[in-house]
Amino acid sequence: MLTSDALIATLSAMVRVIVDEAPILSALDAAIGDGDHGVNMVVGFRAVEEEVAALAGYDIETILSQVGTTIMAASGGASGPLYGAAFMEAAKAAGRVHTVGVAEVAAMLEGACAGVARRGRSSPGEKTMLDTLAWAAREARRCATGGIHGSAAVALIARAAAAGALSTRDMLARRGRAMRLRERTLNHLDPGAASCYLLIATACEGTASLAPLMQVGLPA
Ligand code: ADP
Ligand code: MG
Repeated sequence: MLTSDALIATLSAMVRVIVDEAPILSALDAAIGDGDHGVNMVVGFRAVEEEVAALAGYDIETILSQVGTTIMAASGGASGPLYGAAFMEAAKAAGRVHTVGVAEVAAMLEGACAGVARRGRSSPGEKTMLDTLAWAAREARRCATGGIHGSAAVALIARAAAAGALSTRDMLARRGRAMRLRERTLNHLDPGAASCYLLIATACEGTASLAPLMQVGLPA
């Protein structure tokens, strides 16, 4: 389902998507936070871009833990350390292998959830990136136990990530900067949930865009 070579290509695709979508991520953050989420993500992923070529040939754990370390060190804001933890825990769950299947991807997404939950002291339902991750992890596990592999599985996981990101629209923020705005966070997508959707959907499908998500559920 995923090889270390494909992972290198995926990381480059993630950098492109984050750079392209950064203005939307910052606009989402401007509505319920401080407007810097796009910038924070770009700083972290530009640092990843600089080292991605040097990571070619390594196993999946080594690649992802280096990505986690880099994002944690480079990116400011609350999201940098949280994404750093997510990549590091996904790395550990993968192990020092060059290929993973859907069961390992489920374990990697579950590890990423645990990493964010521990570092952020957060749970799903609190209007954060964890909502996207949790939906994707649950779907990957469902695929693994149901014998759904390959392109069918990645399409389902990407769709679950979108649903998870969209679910934050109806939530009150209970973590991070947005928490202080309480009811005013309703009807807004969480920026971290949106960036997490971009990363997971890019890993699944090679590219991603927030435009379709921004159209869903808007009043006529
Ligand atoms: P900052 O809040 O420092 O400006 P960013 O704007 O880069 O950092 O990131 C904000 C995003 O980080 C939020 O939209 C949310 O998804 C995520 N986030 C913040 N705090 C937490 C937390 N404790 N647990 C999980 N995710 C969090
Ligand atoms: Mg912010």
